[in-house]
Amino acid sequence: MDMKNLNWIEIDRKTILANVRNLSRLAGTKVAMAAAAKANGYGHGLAEMTAILKDSPVQYLALHSTLEAEVARAAGWERKILLVGGIAPEDIDAVIRLDLEPTIFDIGFMENLGRLCRRSKVTARIHVKLETGTNRQGFTQKELDRAIVILKKYPELTVEGVSTHFANIEDTTDHTYARHQLDQFRKLVAHLADKGIVPHLRHTACSAALLLFKDTYFDLVRPGIALYGYWPSKETYVSYKLEGGKNSILKPALSFYSRITQIKTVEADSFVGYGCTYRTSTRSKIAILPVGYYEGIDRRLSNLGYVLIKGKRAPIRGRICMNLTMVDITDIPGVKVYDTATIIGTDKSEQITADTHAGWCQTINYEILSRLSPLIPRIVV
Ligand SMILES: *Cc1c(COP(=O)(O)O)cnc(C)c1O
Repeated sequence: MDMKNLNWIEIDRKTILANVRNLSRLAGTKVAMAAAAKANGYGHGLAEMTAILKDSPVQYLALHSTLEAEVARAAGWERKILLVGGIAPEDIDAVIRLDLEPTIFDIGFMENLGRLCRRSKVTARIHVKLETGTNRQGFTQKELDRAIVILKKYPELTVEGVSTHFANIEDTTDHTYARHQLDQFRKLVAHLADKGIVPHLRHTACSAALLLFKDTYFDLVRPGIALYGYWPSKETYVSYKLEGGKNSILKPALSFYSRITQIKTVEADSFVGYGCTYRTSTRSKIAILPVGYYEGIDRRLSNLGYVLIKGKRAPIRGRICMNLTMVDITDIPGVKVYDTATIIGTDKSEQITADTHAGWCQTINYEILSRLSPLIPRIVV
């Protein structure tokens, strides 16, 4: 713990590596893994995650942008990078400079990359994204035929992989739509093969697919949220359990702490915070935490959530401010200024997870984790 900071996030290295190990075991030895570390490593810190994953056997980092790829390379990632987002035309040389394997879903981009490679006398490994029913990125069969023409024209482009992404695999226990997408995927892959293009990495599986669906593994899996120890959804967990899955496969690795900067006694019938939304019923002790919605505590937690202090729940009073949160410590004896509050993590027998926060503000754990401010120091423990 770095006591110079009032707010900090701890990442438990062993826990991440154990999650990777358990997921690799599930995938089997023949299947490669791309660790999704976009969105600042799902809020865990991209540089920190890069350092941890270097000690794991994962072959790829899956990142969204060239900016993220820059960070991962600077942090010493020398293995492969699968870029799943777009690249600005002005930034296309990043593919060569950072040795990226871009996911391609745009004909114009593919042609530009082919041209750049020819001019630079280099080759590039690309992944062709197929449209199977998510209608987000990917080539339909018609577009694929145009893409094939460009691929034939530019042998500088090596189709290393072919991929798709499921629309409805974590939100429901009914996997009919995922099966439909899988059929579409197989059809388009066969179409490519007919034209002589046989990429050696076919990949479709996000965490939910990896946890539930062997048929989606193919040659490489791309888990994100599960690496960090979280279930993609309650439905995924229920399905997994119904199929007899083991309980302890995933464990959260991130804890988020803040230190109290002030404690005040507030008389009965006093208001706390902006908008006078909370009124004390008795004489109360209020602790001020130097952390607010900017740091990633959703404002919807106003008068709703709690933090942990000395192993007890301290309810949030009034509205969450930009950088401050007030919590009630009336019933927790012996609290002093600079004591630590746990915002996400375990304190004695109490635990708050990103799922707890997601429940409070009616969103998903992905959003809670990825919105933790990148400026909070991450400490790998
Ligand atoms: C983010 C992402 C993943 C990982 O998804 P999880 O649900 O977090 O496992 C996989 N594939 C692609 C293309 C992604 O963008």
